[in-house]
Amino acid sequence: MNCKKKPLLISIVVPCYNESSVVSYFFDAIIKIFDSAPNYDFEVIFVDDGSKDDTLIKIIEITNQDRRFKAVELSRNFGKEAALSAGIEVATGHAVIPMDADLQDPPELIFQMIEKWQKGADVVLAKRIDRKTDSYLKRLTAKWFYKTHNHLSAVKIHENVGDFRLMDRRVVDALKQLTENQRFMKGLFSWVGFRTEIVEYSRPERVSGDTKFSGWRLWNLALEGITSFSTLPLRVWTYIGVFFGLSAIAYAIFIFFGTIFIGKTVPGYSSILIIVLFMGSIQLISIGVIGEYLGRVYAESKGRPAFLIRQIYANSNLNAKSASCLDQ
Ligand code: UDP
Ligand code: MG
Repeated sequence: MNCKKKPLLISIVVPCYNESSVVSYFFDAIIKIFDSAPNYDFEVIFVDDGSKDDTLIKIIEITNQDRRFKAVELSRNFGKEAALSAGIEVATGHAVIPMDADLQDPPELIFQMIEKWQKGADVVLAKRIDRKTDSYLKRLTAKWFYKTHNHLSAVKIHENVGDFRLMDRRVVDALKQLTENQRFMKGLFSWVGFRTEIVEYSRPERVSGDTKFSGWRLWNLALEGITSFSTLPLRVWTYIGVFFGLSAIAYAIFIFFGTIFIGKTVPGYSSILIIVLFMGSIQLISIGVIGEYLGRVYAESKGRPAFLIRQIYANSNLNAKSASCLDQ
């Protein structure tokens, strides 16, 4: 039998949570990309992250229609980071590209990513050149987050780069070795390193539906990012403590000599109250910071998996010819 050498396989991982209104748009857009890149094989791994609408039914329909599509059903909503990890686990491609379902990650960029990958890059990041589709508050807080994170952490993350990127198989395998179950993917992606290139794009609006990331969820993600990659917030309290300790000694000396040489006594209790309240709040904050870390240590120590897969749906009706060529 004359089996040609198999083309490179690109896996696209798409986490979906209540995306019923967007999956068909995504399907149409991604199919066009496949048709215009005939030299590559593609597979799409939809991960249904415990959707409450009929997202799962829609993606199963797609898997029946086209065997390049697979659906991974998680047992409940685990969050985008876990859903991505599940998809990456199942993906078998020579390169893996995580993408949002709402077409905010433009599929056309895949061509440029593949080109850079073929020229030797292990990771090709998609960087937003503007954030005009985000609100002013989101832009501002995102900027603060990147600044704070990169100041505190030894592992820097690229500003305005989301999860949309191409990763070579060796990067994916490295990523799979990181077993922590609270997964801040942007940090993990950066931690593994490898030869990295950037392609730039302008982020469009969501094609349909609403964002799943409220302010509170983003705040928690930011906390997760910082506490997963830096212990400075824990250590800084030692220095703050030393600073206030030394200040207290200096103040005591000042009062001591003031009383001896000038005979001045301090009448007010308000200054004392202010200092007591201030110190009390500093102590509470520092206990809170320890609590954040301790909570994470506790969660990790239980060793629970980051996600649970209920079922994988794939239409594996391969015809006889391609089945016999599988090992080539
Ligand atoms: N998502 C997910 N699980 C969640 C929340 C979101 O899988 O718990 C998916 C969502 O379906 C989408 C992607 O993560 O494909 C990005 O979410 P969204 O578009 O709401 O975020 P934004 O673009 O507003 O930051
Ligand atoms: Mg979006």
